[in-house]
Amino acid sequence: MTPSVPTTETPRVNKATVDTLLPELTALRRQIHQHPEIGFEEWQTARLIASTLTEWGIEVTTDIGGTGIVATLTGRYSGTGCLGLRADMDALYIHEQTGLPYASAHAGKMHACGHDGHVAMLLGAARYLSLHPDFAGTVHFIFQPAEEGLGGAPAMLNDGLLERFPCDALYGLHNKPGVPLGTFALRCAPGRCCAPVIPGRWYFAAREDTVDRAHTCLSIPLCPRHSLSAHCKPSSAVTCRQWSLPC
Ligand SMILES: [Zn+2]
Repeated sequence: MTPSVPTTETPRVNKATVDTLLPELTALRRQIHQHPEIGFEEWQTARLIASTLTEWGIEVTTDIGGTGIVATLTGRYSGTGCLGLRADMDALYIHEQTGLPYASAHAGKMHACGHDGHVAMLLGAARYLSLHPDFAGTVHFIFQPAEEGLGGAPAMLNDGLLERFPCDALYGLHNKPGVPLGTFALRCAPGRCCAPVIPGRWYFAAREDTVDRAHTCLSIPLCPRHSLSAHCKPSSAVTCRQWSLPC
């Protein structure tokens, strides 16, 4: 019988595991950075993501809405909830002139928006949770093509993303240069993390009850506990998009 989540246990990130994973994730990020692909052309990136996840023993579904990928993990504890974590993986028509050892090998294309980092972060979350599946329910890791105005999100939705991989809540993030390493900032205004409108409700994460819920969800992809409270004062209009978790 699958055990229930221990109520006395506070989830904590195993830093030793994170430190162990960092070199491989850094190498993956640089490999993706060196081979940027424009929206809906991310075939090499998608192959790398799929083969890496498969090597780690994680279930993978490919070719969703084009180059989109979903990886799925089930926790060790009993539960029926499903959480979606999403990263984009496309590059821009920009010519890289950084001179970095892993600079773009494709003239006129560059991961200038940091989606290479987003992919590495989501791979890291999948790898970490596969090693420490201390959660109840299911997590879908969604690698989305063509975020840069080409409609990768609707392409995945039109290909049955949420019917095939139902998500009670779905989270995305974007890197922001200048935010200190190890912190997690929430936008203090209504915002969109997916271009298409999916039926759902807005709620204020600053409300005490929803802070807890947001914290619970955000804790899963390695978010330090203190970062949310540091950025989420009761007076802040911090909002998150919520799909079917009851308020
Ligand atoms: Zn971006």
